[in-house]
Amino acid sequence: MALSPSATIDLLRQLDHLPNKKLGQNFLIDGNLVEKSISMAALPPGLPVLEIGPGLGTLTERLLHLGHKVYAVEIDRRLEAHLRQRLGSFIESEQLDLLRADAVKSPTGNLPASISDYAVVANLPYAISSAWMEGVLGSGNLPIRMVMMLQKEATERMLAPSGTKAYNALAIFLQACFQSAGTHAVPGQCFHPAPAVDSVLLRMDRLPQPFVFSRPVRLLIRRIFTQRRKQLGSLIKKEPEELRVTLLTWLERNALCPTFRPETVTVSQWIDLGKSFPEQE
Ligand code: SAM
Repeated sequence: MALSPSATIDLLRQLDHLPNKKLGQNFLIDGNLVEKSISMAALPPGLPVLEIGPGLGTLTERLLHLGHKVYAVEIDRRLEAHLRQRLGSFIESEQLDLLRADAVKSPTGNLPASISDYAVVANLPYAISSAWMEGVLGSGNLPIRMVMMLQKEATERMLAPSGTKAYNALAIFLQACFQSAGTHAVPGQCFHPAPAVDSVLLRMDRLPQPFVFSRPVRLLIRRIFTQRRKQLGSLIKKEPEELRVTLLTWLERNALCPTFRPETVTVSQWIDLGKSFPEQE
């Protein structure tokens, strides 16, 4: 269960720990929200779970009691020590694998590459949510499902359709692999301390045939989106000759005018570009 606000404050005092704003330490203090995360995830029994930022261990403990093997990545040394104490028996029985690391550098923690069926359930530190997501997409080992607590604006950017201002490179990479399966608005008072921004629980399910963009294509799309107000034709002119040919053929194949802007190109048209590069990671 989530600790009440006063129990959380007491525990943080005992640990001599002030929530670190830079690390997005807004701890869940609403048991209903923990249950909502679990019910949204609808985890099949025994499915391994990756959790980023277990913090005080509220979600972690619930997942462990449900019998899931949990791979958790926490950056904060003091919280790691608390988790090792609070959840020591699960660590001993190897049901919990806790790694102290930066999840941007270790996006899937100690999860073995051989495990291809796993879910993510996490109350993410908002500052790293995009970078971590890109890390997971680049890892080549995609979860079957992700239930994530995110900043509302970040969720809107991730789900943004083509033709909108919010549409961006990460939205393309993410939507090529996952589809949204529901959102749930979360009030600030569900956390201690309450974040200054609005939060949303988002579930995303892996597509039956996800398309993972190779690193060079991700870099190319990012480059293009840094100048999103420019027309595709003039952006393509800036690319090296051998790339220009591929890009011009792609425009033609997809009936895309050189005067179009990058945000008008749909995810499936970007995927078509990705497929015209033979080399995949
Ligand atoms: N899961 C806990 C909960 O729901 O109460 C805590 C969530 S809190 C929003 C985010 C957690 O992520 C904190 O424990 C913080 O220390 C951790 N964190 C922040 N940056 C991190 C990073 N780069 N890598 C791993 N963990 C990080």
